[in-house]
Amino acid sequence: MHATQPKAVVLLSGGLDSATVLAIAREQGYACYALSFDYGQRHRCELAAAERIAETLGAIDHRTIRLDLRAIGGSALTDDAIEVPSAPSEGIPVTYVPARNTVFLSLALGWAEVLGAGHIFIGVNAVDYSGYPDCRPEFIRAYEAMANLATKAAVEGHPMRLHTPLIDLSKAEIILAGHRLGVDYGLTLSCYNPDLLGNACGVCDSCRLRSAGFAAAGVVDPTPYQVRTQGSHTLKQP
Ligand code: ZN
Repeated sequence: MHATQPKAVVLLSGGLDSATVLAIAREQGYACYALSFDYGQRHRCELAAAERIAETLGAIDHRTIRLDLRAIGGSALTDDAIEVPSAPSEGIPVTYVPARNTVFLSLALGWAEVLGAGHIFIGVNAVDYSGYPDCRPEFIRAYEAMANLATKAAVEGHPMRLHTPLIDLSKAEIILAGHRLGVDYGLTLSCYNPDLLGNACGVCDSCRLRSAGFAAAGVVDPTPYQVRTQGSHTLKQP
């Protein structure tokens, strides 16, 4: 790390989008501090993916904060009583985790203040997204304004900037950007409902968006999918 490199906290879930964001932040010259959350998510093996990605993409440090959102539940990702849907639904899907990005950004803001970092990167996307309200540009703008009222650093003249490099990109454009930067998407996990080995289900919202993105980008999809048996045929999903 150069002493002159600006520091950034990068939210890293272990999925395709946040891995791309880390690669972009690094290319833009930031010294990257990756932050993941073990929040009781159904797809916990994304944390092992986050670890590999942080290392491969040169994060200076990678922390995982434990924060059990199962204590409040309310999402298919944090409540076993709510199933992950295998078909698209109307409105905001049940995979929405109540206030998740608000909570995650707040902890990123705290760590950034400790590090003396003036930048936070988050992989939200307003194009191919699932209708999550905390992925919209107006949420990000409002959060940034709030952050600059919230910290000692900001009051003392060191404002915080939120970066959302993927916000206007399609899934295919995100994949092409990461591909160009050498992101190994085989290390990433996007599935909401993977098996214990980390193989993707191929049918959840996240799997469908991801797989369509690779097809539209013309990039080979390196995702390991669960092999499902149906009658006498063995189908590889999707
Ligand atoms: Zn899936």
